[in-house]
Amino acid sequence: MKLLGVLGGMSWTSTAEYYRLLNHGVAVRLGGLHSARLLVHSVDFAPVAAMQHDGNWDGTTTVLVDAAQELERAGAQGLILATNTMHKVADQLQAATNIPLLHIADATAARIRADGLHTVALLATAFTMEQDFYIGRLRDQGLDVITPDDAERADVHRIIYDELCQDVVLDSSRDRYREVMDHLAQRGAEGIILGCTEIGLLVEAGDASVPLYDTTAIHVEQAIDWMLAP
Ligand code: GLU
Repeated sequence: MKLLGVLGGMSWTSTAEYYRLLNHGVAVRLGGLHSARLLVHSVDFAPVAAMQHDGNWDGTTTVLVDAAQELERAGAQGLILATNTMHKVADQLQAATNIPLLHIADATAARIRADGLHTVALLATAFTMEQDFYIGRLRDQGLDVITPDDAERADVHRIIYDELCQDVVLDSSRDRYREVMDHLAQRGAEGIILGCTEIGLLVEAGDASVPLYDTTAIHVEQAIDWMLAP
């Protein structure tokens, strides 16, 4: 089994889920007491989130490149970046290391295409929903992507940072996400990407009338495929 470096802490609530799912998935595939060979570098999210909101993406790149290089020096043979939003600097991370970075949007697009879907909605942070780095990558792989309207995007973003990243899961926020997902399905979404690694802590398949694509779970499967490949 290859040794996987996990660049996490963004937020810790979703990194904990990555850790659980990676180990669970390896145990299911190999059986018995098998578990995932991992190095986890978990950053302090507060300064990273502050830089995101200030538009200081160079600052975030510095933090993540340092962490990725430490993982490589420690022996990681490949990397996952356990957040969709910070894939904004995925190219810089890949350029600064000599090991593969398994891109979360590529795994997600491949899964959706395998299911034969074409038009999908994206729920994510405002950065991911409103900039091109993620949606553009999905479109390059043949998908049509729609996003919630202004007021919906603001609520989706607020619930991620003010609640889910701080280990707060509220029924009222689940209701709001259900409402937003209903509206997206009415607007023609054949599926909905949970394009933020914490959203799976709030909603599940039964909360929407169309299939949900949880990027955390999809990214974990991609990573396990890579770890166990010869
Ligand atoms: N984990 C989230 C994501 O997947 C948001 C936190 C972050 O900005 O990294 O986008």
